[in-house]
Amino acid sequence: MKLRVVVLGAGFGGLELSSMLSEALAERLDLTLIDKNDSFYFGYSKLDVMFGRQTPNAVRLAYSNIVKPGVRFRQEVIMAIDPEARRVTTNTATYNADILVVALGADYDLAATPGLIEGGNEFYSFAGAERLREVLPTFSKGRAIVGVTSTPFKCPPAPSEAALLLHEHLTARGVRNACEISLVMPFGVPIPPSPATSQALLAAFAERGITFIPNRLVRALDPARRVAILDNASEMPYDLFLGIPKHRVPGVVAASGMTEDGWIPVNPKNLKTRFPGVYAVGDVTSVGTPKAGVFSEGAARVVAASLIAELQGGEQPQAYAGAGSCYIEFGANRVGRVDVDFLSGPSPTGSFIEPSVALVGEKKHFGSSRQARWFGL
Ligand SMILES: Cc1cc2nc3c(=O)[nH]c(=O)nc-3n(C[C@H](O)[C@H](O)[C@H](O)COP(=O)(O)OP(=O)(O)OC[C@H]3O[C@@H](n4cnc5c(N)ncnc54)[C@H](O)[C@@H]3O)c2cc1C
Repeated sequence: MKLRVVVLGAGFGGLELSSMLSEALAERLDLTLIDKNDSFYFGYSKLDVMFGRQTPNAVRLAYSNIVKPGVRFRQEVIMAIDPEARRVTTNTATYNADILVVALGADYDLAATPGLIEGGNEFYSFAGAERLREVLPTFSKGRAIVGVTSTPFKCPPAPSEAALLLHEHLTARGVRNACEISLVMPFGVPIPPSPATSQALLAAFAERGITFIPNRLVRALDPARRVAILDNASEMPYDLFLGIPKHRVPGVVAASGMTEDGWIPVNPKNLKTRFPGVYAVGDVTSVGTPKAGVFSEGAARVVAASLIAELQGGEQPQAYAGAGSCYIEFGANRVGRVDVDFLSGPSPTGSFIEPSVALVGEKKHFGSSRQARWFGL
């Protein structure tokens, strides 16, 4: 008998889970991987696209490249999830699963921030990053704000990276002196679990004349007056607003009855939901790690190892540690790295590796190794 696995979402979590199960189980596996898109892209590619470092086509990885024993990819829109029955309905089919894995990530709610759609930009969606390719070259003087509108948000270093890369972009165009850059963040320091990373980022901001505004969120924009309104009612004038929009689970997840306080609760050790045979990994959960690809991938590996052990009678894997490394773009062809561990100790810890050209290569390898494992490219 084959193990019928249905994986919802082909992002970091879904791709890693499918790859590991295929490698270990091959013909004993009957896995359907479903995503509404025809291609995957790394989250950090959005920074490359918005600043014109890469074209949108160059960073897209087509799901049609997935050729793995026991795995079939379906480009369909998931319309309903019944976690009790482990049944999924898409726009074209219905799937029943022995094991159901929800890896549908986080969506954005732009309308939750008044004025953002009419008077601002966001770079967290691919479409938003693509639009900014056209907008950024037209910004040559005035005040730019990179602003977080709500928590939690994906990849906590990304707003800092956007501010640093904006500095680089404006400098290269010879207009930096005519522009101001501010970064509005909900934390006291850029990366709270790693003081050394925060210190390095704060030093980089100071060196480049970027104003860091801690412990604040942008609640609204007033496009008519071109001001951003913060959560303490103070106002900041802007000419260019690069927003991090409010995050939420995809609508189909909210409608499934699986969420509590907005996200899917899971046992942090094994990623099980309260529904037997149903797991959830990655950004769609409230597991206790930041929302980042490395954590989605790590969670998927624990689920895969546990299913493989169950089927092959081996030992269960160690509990999920919520550990991973994030690369941080500092501009000027230098990348730093923060290694964080969220779940194995009493409180999160992190260590920092100084920005270097060598880490640019390591980040490239991070991408190319996954491209090879997931897509055979
Ligand atoms: C600017 C930026 C920079 C980032 N940089 C990094 C970084 O350097 N390192 C890092 O680790 N992370 C980074 N991230 C975060 C990372 O991209 C996400 O955390 C990661 O993709 C989450 O993986 P996931 O598998 O949980 O969900 P996702 O990768 O979001 O995958 C979810 C999938 O579900 C699909 N889906 C959703 N709803 C439906 C539906 N109804 N029907 C069918 N399919 C559906 C989506 O199309 C999507 O492919 C960055 C994010 C941003 C925005």
